Amino acid sequence: MTTTTDIPNIPNEKKPAPKSIVLTSHPSKTDSRKPLPIDWGAADPGLRGPIVATLQNPGGKNAVGTHSGAYSLYRALAIASGQLKAEHKPDLTNTAPAERIGPFPQWADPEKIVSMDPWGHMTSEVFARQIAAGWDIRPTVAVTKAHINMPELHQAVQAGRLVPDGDILAANGDVKVTKVAVEPVWWLPGVARRFKISETELRRGLFEQTGGMFPELVTRPDLKVFLPPIGGMTVYLFGDVSRLGKKETRIACRVHDECNGSDVFGSDICTCRPYLAHGIEVCIEEAQKGGVGVIVYNRKEGRALGEVTKFLVYNARKRQEAGDRAETYFQRTECVAGVQDMRFQELMPDILHWLGIARIDRLVSMSNMKYEPIVSSGIAVVERVPIPDALIPADARVEMDAKKAAGYFTEKVPDAEELKQAKGRGLTE
Ligand SMILES: [Zn+2]
Repeated sequence: MTTTTDIPNIPNEKKPAPKSIVLTSHPSKTDSRKPLPIDWGAADPGLRGPIVATLQNPGGKNAVGTHSGAYSLYRALAIASGQLKAEHKPDLTNTAPAERIGPFPQWADPEKIVSMDPWGHMTSEVFARQIAAGWDIRPTVAVTKAHINMPELHQAVQAGRLVPDGDILAANGDVKVTKVAVEPVWWLPGVARRFKISETELRRGLFEQTGGMFPELVTRPDLKVFLPPIGGMTVYLFGDVSRLGKKETRIACRVHDECNGSDVFGSDICTCRPYLAHGIEVCIEEAQKGGVGVIVYNRKEGRALGEVTKFLVYNARKRQEAGDRAETYFQRTECVAGVQDMRFQELMPDILHWLGIARIDRLVSMSNMKYEPIVSSGIAVVERVPIPDALIPADARVEMDAKKAAGYFTEKVPDAEELKQAKGRGLTE
């Protein structure tokens, strides 16, 4: 129960408007029932407590925001338009993880994981008592099995780089994977510390810059967990998942940030899909040798600037005087977006800690922006695997040279003369 306020009747509505609107912006003065406590980082899930971000509960939410990330807005639409009952509770029969992941010691370190719920896939198991008592506690992580297949893997088999083994990699190119979907769950004190700002500054920024979307960010300092309305991530695991968390297990890993144009549609202005495919190839190799391959796919389109900004930048790059060149690659992004990048890799290593990874034997990335947070979070990196030169599309040379000049892992940093040369296609070519 929470504070209620009357809302005016709007004429010409098809359905009668509800009498009152539920406000959760302040703790209820009339209701003695308290939200369930959360002790973030407690090793025992019973002590850690469940994340309650649903509205139909015996004692209210203990988190700001709600489930499903950006899709929460579609759920709101479905309820507003009468297609989904507000009180619908999911039937979670047979939805348990297809593979057991964790718990790992990292789960009990409140600073190692701050942007996802390590128990998010095990809610039905570890919070069974609370669920039986009527709490609507939902998973924020789901683990399933799949086969994937990409033309690049066929090419790798044809070129003799990959050899089908009939299990992990079938003769028809099918690859067996375990895949994990993760919704963001932010523990605000920990997130603030990652960015070296105060929790108050973080809460204020999130509140103001979302147009005041979540008043509890500023009115409920007692609620420390926030489920932001943003995209999450998918993890593709290759090989025997039960070997995760063991010292002797070799890990190959690529952390990939979404680039829909390249990843799905094969656009050639960047190296995203070729590098992703190469990462998968390395993961399969490692899995075939008894290790585990890990592809983390983050929904951070266009360096988390979004696709509209990205396409505007493409136009600006190709229309500028002297053409598309590495020298001005980052400037053009900064002109439009005000910054070069908003992916904030500070939160990225969380998923690696969730998987119990303490060492990456082969990191398939040249990015210093990814390497540094991984290493400074305590994960050792043995080898960094660059993208093979033959996989870089001609139009993507601009991006590759600009990144190498800016600190990308490379044997040879391009000089000023090299960066001045226009290498990208013109806009209408
Ligand atoms: Zn791309």
